[in-house]
Parts: sequence; C-alpha cells; structure tokens
Amino acid sequence: GTWKSERIIASRQGPHLRLEGGGTGILNFCANNYLGLSSHPEVIRAAVEALEKFGAGLSSVRFICGTQSIHKDLEEKIARFHQREDAILYASCFDANAGIFEALLTPEDAVLSDELNHASIIDGIRLCKANKYRYKHMDMQDLEAKLQDAQKHRLRLVATDGAFSMDGDIAPLKEICQLAQKYDALVFIDECHATGFLGPNGRGTDELLGVMDKVTIINSTLGKALGGAAGGYTTGPKPLIDLLRQRSRPYLFSNSLPPAVVGCASKALDLLMESNAIAQSMAAKTQRFRSKMTAAGFTISGKDHPICPVMLGDARLAAVMAEDMLNRGIYVIGFSYPVVPKGKARIRVQISAVHSDEDIDRCVEAFTEVGRKHGALP
Ligand code: PLP
Repeated sequence: GTWKSERIIASRQGPHLRLEGGGTGILNFCANNYLGLSSHPEVIRAAVEALEKFGAGLSSVRFICGTQSIHKDLEEKIARFHQREDAILYASCFDANAGIFEALLTPEDAVLSDELNHASIIDGIRLCKANKYRYKHMDMQDLEAKLQDAQKHRLRLVATDGAFSMDGDIAPLKEICQLAQKYDALVFIDECHATGFLGPNGRGTDELLGVMDKVTIINSTLGKALGGAAGGYTTGPKPLIDLLRQRSRPYLFSNSLPPAVVGCASKALDLLMESNAIAQSMAAKTQRFRSKMTAAGFTISGKDHPICPVMLGDARLAAVMAEDMLNRGIYVIGFSYPVVPKGKARIRVQISAVHSDEDIDRCVEAFTEVGRKHGALP
C-alpha cells in the first residue's frame, strides 16, 4: 500500500481539474494552493509580462551575471512583507533549507530540531557540522533539557516548522521564543505552510502567535500559497543574508530564478499586501470542513489549519479510500510510511480559499460514503 503513482493533470492548477485519460470537473483537495493564486489572472499576466521583458532565464548564477532588477525588487518585497531587514532568493525552499545551516553554524555550535521537521530541514542539518539535538515533537520540556545541555556550545539555533505539513499542527512559537530567550538561542522557522494565510494579515505563524520580533530567521516557499510557481527564500537580519550570499552553496552554485517565476511571486505578494480578504476567507472554509468531518465521525489532526489530515492508521486503507474518492470525483491523496510514521497513514485534505461551500460539502459527503464502505466509519 505504500507504492506511489502520479496522476496526470491536463488543466491548470485549481479547485476543479481535468485529469488525463478522462475525469473532468474533478474537485481538487490536495494542492498547496491555499489562496487559489496559482491560476489567478493577475498572477499569470505578471508572469507573461516578466517573461517578455526579462526573457526566459538568466543562464547564470546570481553572482556571476544572474541578478536582474526584478530579483532585487522581489527580495525587498519579501523582507517588507515579513517585516525583516533583507531577503535572499533560492530556486526552492528545499534549497534555502539545504543552504542555511552549513553557512551559519560551525562545529562549535548547536542546532536543536523538532523530530517532525520537514525532510529539507533534516537534510540541511545533516550537511552542517554543528552539534545536533533532536527534541520530541513540540515538547517544550524536552527542548528545555536539550537547551540546557547545549549551553556548552558557542551558539544555539532552534529550528522548527511553523506549521507541520503532515499534521496541520502549529509550533508553540511563544514558548519556543521564551526558552530561546532564557537560554540565549536563535529561532529559525520554516513557514512553507503558513506564509500568506496564517495570522491576521497572512504573515505567518510568527504573526499568528505574536512573536514577529522574536523569531530571527524565516525560510519559506514561493511554490505554495504565493502563486505556486517555484522558488524559496530566507528572510532575516541583513548581516545573515549578506553571509548567505557569500557562503550558501545552493545560492552560489545554482541558476537564478526565472523571470516569469519572479513575476508570479511578486504579484502574489502585491495582492496580499493590498488586502487580507483572501487569507481571511480561507479560515471560514477550513472551519466548515473540519467541523463537518468531525461530526461525521472522522478524526482530523491539527487545529484551525487548512491542512486537514483524515487519520486512518492503515496504509492500504488510506490508498484504497483515496482511489475510491477519485471515483466519486474528489482528488485526495493517501500518505503513508516513510512520508509519515508507520501506522499513522492518513488522507491529507487541503482547503483553498477558492473552494466553494458546495465543494466542501461534496467532499465531506464522499468521505462519509467511502469511509462507511471501507469500514473507517461505523
Ligand atoms: N519545507 C516544508 C515544510 C515543505 O512542506 C516544503 C515542500 O514540500 C519545503 C520546505 C520545500 O519547499 P519547495 O517546494 O519550495 O522546495
């Protein structure tokens, strides 16, 4: 039940899809298109304009001859959006996570990482020579014990996902920042599943939890809520960003972001800075799905996040139920080991601002039917 196959989409990304070899009008509940900007007409227009004006690509890394005015403008906009001093672009957030730890930390330092952090954080930490501590998921007692042990090192960095992508739960950033203050540590958050829609103005988990001035470093993606094309970034203090431009290997040794991609992300940020209406509309849709599914008898992990994991336990059950949901016109995906721990298979549903109430109700009805058929519901 763990073999993964890919479904082929024959239309744009959006709440309604056409799949190759049949299925039209498929309701899509598994993209990270949280704000529905992936196919937003203004985002597409901005990409076309950037493509025409600045070309297909730079055929160069940034420091040789790959920096255009739009790259600098986007970095400035990202920093302004997050209320940070500066930002640096990468081809992906995977690259941003791969590049930061090695550039920042030495063998004299320590990094303390939540055990359920994203694979790219884990890989980034593997690449650095700092002393490594892995604390139990969101367990502040364990983090404190590890911080005490790490006092012997020169510098301490606590690294956590802001919102965890497999469980839809949100890191206790207030408590993490308090501990970081007490034990003189820096805080790093990965905001891939928060940027653009968590917090009153969509700034992320640091805004949601009131610690924008306490979190030192943010890594996030342009490939999810912010237009969905591709790209990632680090934003934080200017000296840190200056250091990354000198030392971060995925930045130094990989091509610049293509202009069309820069155009998409830049327009997505403009839309979000003009109004918080899209971000707000998603919260109500998430609430509708979570409460109706819970009432139907399902266990939904996490809280108030548009990632709504329907917990099933068995890998094969998750795969078979997802397949049967597609037979009913609902595209969802089962997740099993090694993406999630053994015995914790689930179907991860993701809500988007562009789902209608009717779309959500259709999804809940299909889950209820399929859940009864396969014995996941009584
Ligand atoms: N961090 C988290 C928490 C993610 O979910 C992802 C994407 O799956 C990444 C990093 C990598 O982002 P990107 O797709 O920009 O490489």
